[in-house]
Amino acid sequence: MEYKLNNFHYNVPEQDLLDDIKRVAAKLNKMALTSREYDEVGKYNSGTIHRRLGSWNKALEKAGLEAALSLNIPDKDLFENIERVWISLGRQPTHREMKPPLSKFSTYPYGRRFGTFRKGLIAFVEFIKSNDDNNLAMQNVESEKIPSEIIQDNEPVYRHKTKRLPSERLKVQVLMRDGNKCRLCGITVTGENIHFDHIHPWSKGGETVLENIQVLCETHNLAKGNLTYDS
Ligand SMILES: [Zn+2]
Repeated sequence: MEYKLNNFHYNVPEQDLLDDIKRVAAKLNKMALTSREYDEVGKYNSGTIHRRLGSWNKALEKAGLEAALSLNIPDKDLFENIERVWISLGRQPTHREMKPPLSKFSTYPYGRRFGTFRKGLIAFVEFIKSNDDNNLAMQNVESEKIPSEIIQDNEPVYRHKTKRLPSERLKVQVLMRDGNKCRLCGITVTGENIHFDHIHPWSKGGETVLENIQVLCETHNLAKGNLTYDS
């Protein structure tokens, strides 16, 4: 008896791999195909395809199919992911930085959705600019002093029209305006070291709006906090 090793398909032309993906997709009547679905009826092995084409999604793209991964992510999730990455870095992410753990998604689904990652970023900037700031607690109410009869200890208390903590969207707006540099010393700040400071302190009636929030480094945020009792 002669034992015959399984064929590893090292030398299959790339086009044959792609043609077989198309054949399986047509057979299953699907525009998107998971590697598991392919392995059930495919002539080759999805591991081989992965190795030869770089990734399963790249193989699907080359075969002219939609990547299952990128089909069902809502725009909102794609944008909120950039929002998180932008705040972590303090600035616009590069192509290379869009990978776990920093980013939940690669640039791939952005390319699928918007044409290119850059076009995705352009759409993101529009999203940041156009969406209602969810910091607003109430509409069209000026910050006002609460009537003196309910003020205790002579400490003025303000009714705010915004929430104290800036929303993720507002943070990105501030970073887009200031860059990731402390407004007082110019040092570059990232991650935990980025502080979003109320220029006119919250405790003195300052609102959480773009014009009243600035980027500070930790040192200057602490220094200012000691001065104004506002963090
Ligand atoms: Zn500083």
